[in-house]
Amino acid sequence: MSAASGVYRIAELATLALQWQEDLQYLVLAAEPESIAQVEQWRLKGLRNIAPVNAVGLEEGDVVACDVERGKVTVLFRESDVHHSLFLTNRCNSYCLMCSQPPTRQDDSWLVDQAIAVVRHVRVAPAVVGISGGEPLLAATGLNRLLATINDFWPGTDVEVLTNGRLLNDGRIKEELFSPPPLNVRWLVPLYGHADFLHDFVVQSAGAFDQTLDGLLTLQAMRQPIQLRIVLIEPVIEVLDELCRFIGQNLPFVECVALMACEPTGFALANRDLCELDLWDAGPILERASRVLDRYQVRHVFMNAPLCALPPRLWTRATRSISDWKNTYADACTTCSVKDRCCGLFAWHENWKPTKLKPIEEATE
Ligand code: SF4
Repeated sequence: MSAASGVYRIAELATLALQWQEDLQYLVLAAEPESIAQVEQWRLKGLRNIAPVNAVGLEEGDVVACDVERGKVTVLFRESDVHHSLFLTNRCNSYCLMCSQPPTRQDDSWLVDQAIAVVRHVRVAPAVVGISGGEPLLAATGLNRLLATINDFWPGTDVEVLTNGRLLNDGRIKEELFSPPPLNVRWLVPLYGHADFLHDFVVQSAGAFDQTLDGLLTLQAMRQPIQLRIVLIEPVIEVLDELCRFIGQNLPFVECVALMACEPTGFALANRDLCELDLWDAGPILERASRVLDRYQVRHVFMNAPLCALPPRLWTRATRSISDWKNTYADACTTCSVKDRCCGLFAWHENWKPTKLKPIEEATE
């Protein structure tokens, strides 16, 4: 490969001329010797920001990271996907029992520049993009730069920042992120208990509950939209009623509460005794939680929860939330009448399934 390591947009030979820009880098799909020779010839004539590539699975418009040393091309943004996210850091200040992406300590500040390069290289701006980690606020300056780049390149895109919120009340970070407050950002903040020892146990960090509440109040003061996220693991299910009442009484300003089935990977596997549960068995608790939130007029949705795992009364609140690249269906789903509106399963559902799958013969909700 004649490319250097870095971020590239994938282009077809036939459309390269239409989309070429001097300040971007392109890998041009070229499998045949003639196509490769054509790209190399253009390079020799001065188009130094293009190189041929012949790799299975790449599509025009994808944005990739090219690692020349390892001879590896990794897709960072797939244009044809519905769900898109930008990864800012793998460092975190919490250590959640069910973390799907266990944190690391190394300096990974290069990820900020990579995320910014991805935004610059994307051909069609997405309707929504998530920013995740790790904890993105540990890279607050980088987050600010990334938000500014998104504003410049994708002015119509809604941004969702997944954060534990613990640093939002920090003076420097507040100044950095909210002067002025962004207009297109929604904050996705997990909350796992209505008392400090409950939440702090789940996130394995003393003091986290108070810090997260401070963060939520900061977001409220800045008039920022908030989605609270509750991952449904045993210690949370045990207090779900009280947690929902706490939210209704103390955090009525949140825009939405997302009740989410646990992703069976990462730390969830190491803490399986606390994280694995059959959602169907928890159905009465979920219905009660939904009634409590309804009573306080708090909008709520269920995420990562297949329809056959939920009581039919809750189906209208279920969303197809699992990101394209993580999403699959089991053989049992083939005959299911509600497959087209069911979120299905995580690709790694063989670790455990959210319930024993029961294909629905006819919708009954
Ligand atoms: S059988 Fe499959 S498609 Fe049908 S509700 Fe269950 S998980 Fe969804």
